Amino acid sequence: MRLPQSRKLLLFGLAVLMVGLAGRAFAGTTPGSRTDAKPAVSAPSATKRPAKPKPSPSKKAVARKVSARKGVGPAGSRMTTGTKAVALTFDDGPDPKQTPQILKLLAQHHVHATFCLVGRNVRKHPELVRQIVAAGHTLCNHTWGHDLELGKKPAAQIRADMARTDAEIRKAAPGAKIKYFRAPGGNFTPGVVAVAGSMGMGSLYWKVDPRDWDHPKGETPAQHRAKVIRRVEHNTHAGAIVLSHDYAQPDTIAAYRTLVPWLKKRYALTAL
Ligand SMILES: [Zn+2]
Repeated sequence: MRLPQSRKLLLFGLAVLMVGLAGRAFAGTTPGSRTDAKPAVSAPSATKRPAKPKPSPSKKAVARKVSARKGVGPAGSRMTTGTKAVALTFDDGPDPKQTPQILKLLAQHHVHATFCLVGRNVRKHPELVRQIVAAGHTLCNHTWGHDLELGKKPAAQIRADMARTDAEIRKAAPGAKIKYFRAPGGNFTPGVVAVAGSMGMGSLYWKVDPRDWDHPKGETPAQHRAKVIRRVEHNTHAGAIVLSHDYAQPDTIAAYRTLVPWLKKRYALTAL
C-alpha cells in the first residue's frame, strides 16, 4: 500500500527524532556508560537539579551525533585535549568547602586541572580564585549565574554575561588569563561560541561525563563515589576531557582521591 506523502513525512520526522535522541545520549557519554541510558548533558550548579523539558529534537541533534564521532562537541566546541594527555575539569565553583580540598589533592599529586567558575561564586570567594591561579590551574568562564539558556539569547546579552564574569574573576585575580568558556549544561550554540571566541576564550565541552551531580533517590554516598570512579575509569581514554564538579559535591572530591592516582598511572594529566 502506498503511503500518502504527508504520512511519509511524518514517519521521516519520527525517524529523525529517534536518531536525534540517540545522538544526544551519545554526545556526552562514552561507550561504557551507555547502560546508564540517560542523556549525559550536564545540569545546573544547584544540588537539586530539576528535570528540564528536552528541547525538540532536530537536525541539530543529528549533527551533534555525527560531530561527536569526530571529537568535536556541539557548535564546534572542544571535546578532547588534542594530545594523548587527559584533562580534568571542575565546574560550578568556587566552593568554600570542596574547592580547597580538590586543590590540596591536586597539589599532592602535582596535577594541574581546569576550573570553570561561576561569576556569582567568584564574587563570594575571590580568595579561592587566587589560590586556583597561584597553583597554576587553568581558568574557564562558566557564566555569571549558570544560565542554561544563555546560548539562545542575543549576542549583546551573551557578551554582557561573559564580560561580567571575566571582570569578577580578574577583580579576584588581577591579570588572570581566562582561556576557556564552558556553557552550562554544555548548551553551546554557534552564537555563544562566536562571542566567547571574540573575547579570546575557546569553547570547552567534554568527552567523559560521570554525571557526578546526579544523585538518584536511595543512592548512598559510597555507591555514588563508586559510580563516579567506575564511570571515569571505564570511559576515559587518551585525549579525553573529563567533566566533574567541585561545587557542592563532596563525593566527587572523595572519588578523585582514588581517581587521581589511578589516572596518573595511565595518562599524563594536563591543564588545558
Ligand atoms: Zn555547570
